Amino acid sequence: MIYIAIDGPAGSGKSSVASELAKRLGFGYLNTGNIYRVISFFWIQKGQPEFSKEFFEFIKGKNFSVVDDSVIVDGKSFNNELRTLEVGRVVSKVAEIPEIREIVTRKSREIVKDANFVVEGRDIGTVVLPDAFLKIFLTASIEERARRRYKELISKGIKANFEDIIDEIKERDYIDSSRTISPLKAADDAIVITTDGLDLEEVVNKIYSIYTERMKSVRDNSRK
Ligand code: C5P
Repeated sequence: MIYIAIDGPAGSGKSSVASELAKRLGFGYLNTGNIYRVISFFWIQKGQPEFSKEFFEFIKGKNFSVVDDSVIVDGKSFNNELRTLEVGRVVSKVAEIPEIREIVTRKSREIVKDANFVVEGRDIGTVVLPDAFLKIFLTASIEERARRRYKELISKGIKANFEDIIDEIKERDYIDSSRTISPLKAADDAIVITTDGLDLEEVVNKIYSIYTERMKSVRDNSRK
């Protein structure tokens, strides 16, 4: 199978880029952040209990799959309910729990095992798919990321304050990069792309041409 790993911080444009790239290549698309989000959704629904064996078994027993941009859990589709502020506030905390990371890693590998996939997250190139064919680390300045987020919220008619968004992004970056297990960082063999000033199509084109170049050199080498 061919896997393209796309990692990077919140607001780097990962999701739009990964989903568009998957469409262009005819690959499946897995957003692992959505799996952490759906687990956070269940955790909130259960009243935010202690992280115990009971909760881990509950999550392990669920069947996860993806269709387009939605996560399907035991046949039920989740999408908008994963993007609420409430889920946003707890997801980094949930994603810090080692047992949860292990479950998500296992479920993610299971989801992608039979098809080519573009997989996005924080630790795809480093932990989930260390042998991925291509690893991209997308990044952008905090101001650029906050601007995108602000625009997105305003376009959805949601009130937003630029300074609050900057603070939220900084806090999430801090939690995601400083956790001891699978922190957010570029794999040694990842190609880092800074997306400041680039639009979606420009970023997708860039990755697409890196992918086709690499494919070509693999084919050329196998002919030698
Ligand atoms: O990608 P998104 O911002 O929706 O992810 C939500 C949160 O899930 C991140 O802030 C991070 O804490 C966690 N996450 C992670 N590892 C991944 C994907 C997401 O820790 N592979």
